[in-house]
Amino acid sequence: MKAINISICRCGKFLDKHSWRPVKDVREVIMQKIRETMPKAKIKFEYYSLPEKHKEKKDIQTIVEFKGQVYKPVVIVKMAKCNLCEREGTKYFEAILQIRSRSEPVLKESVEYLQERISGLRQRGVFINKVERFEDGFDLYLTSNKLAQVLGRELLDKFGGGLKVSPRLFSKNKQTSKELYRVNVFIELPGFTRGDYMVVDDHVFLVDKLGRKIKITEAVSGSSRIVDYLGLDYSVLKRQQAYVSKTYPHLEVINPHDYQSSMIKNKPRKDLVLGEKANVVIHKGIYAVD
Ligand SMILES: [Zn+2]
Repeated sequence: MKAINISICRCGKFLDKHSWRPVKDVREVIMQKIRETMPKAKIKFEYYSLPEKHKEKKDIQTIVEFKGQVYKPVVIVKMAKCNLCEREGTKYFEAILQIRSRSEPVLKESVEYLQERISGLRQRGVFINKVERFEDGFDLYLTSNKLAQVLGRELLDKFGGGLKVSPRLFSKNKQTSKELYRVNVFIELPGFTRGDYMVVDDHVFLVDKLGRKIKITEAVSGSSRIVDYLGLDYSVLKRQQAYVSKTYPHLEVINPHDYQSSMIKNKPRKDLVLGEKANVVIHKGIYAVD
């Protein structure tokens, strides 16, 4: 009996003649191969362990009962790279995902989100093959043009912002002479995150909800607005600390800029105690924040 050779990829596929197909349990592939020559054979696995490193081979030992005879076919499983995984760690890319934001925490959060999503897309051949860091963002070189656009839209749903997709260039793949399209997916994420305070139309607002539509709530009146990120004129307020100097008849804190006791303009969400350090933002007055 001829030796049975099976190539597997660590994304969970095996090479079936000339194409890579998903496989749940490699044992099923082995049994199928054995039964191609010995239909309905009884198969027992004596030793079964899969290779882990690239190019590593493992012998699988089976005992096969077929028409009253016992066979021990040679089965070799080799760890290889499928047509998609072989793109990992190369210069290959189909899209550049350009993420920009004025806010470092927003950038950090968005990149962490993408890394997690992309690690789950291994089976579909999506890898980050290069990262370029800029002062206001990242360029990620991705191996899938389609999924770069999907991920771009996901970022907008999660963070809000603006998106522009533009074909960048195309070249011919030398091996297949197929035209290769490349796109730039440019995403401008907001310079703020949920819980930030900012000034819009000269009023102080809390950022309540992010997404394609952004919900902001006015600090004094508590009334909310739904806004689009594109065209939004805003400036984010820095949280500062101030000592509570009075709680009655009005709440006052020591203004960290002029050291005067000043009245808080909004109603804080929690009670503040005299002498306590409170988080505040300042814009034509002081606002207590969480
Ligand atoms: Zn693979």
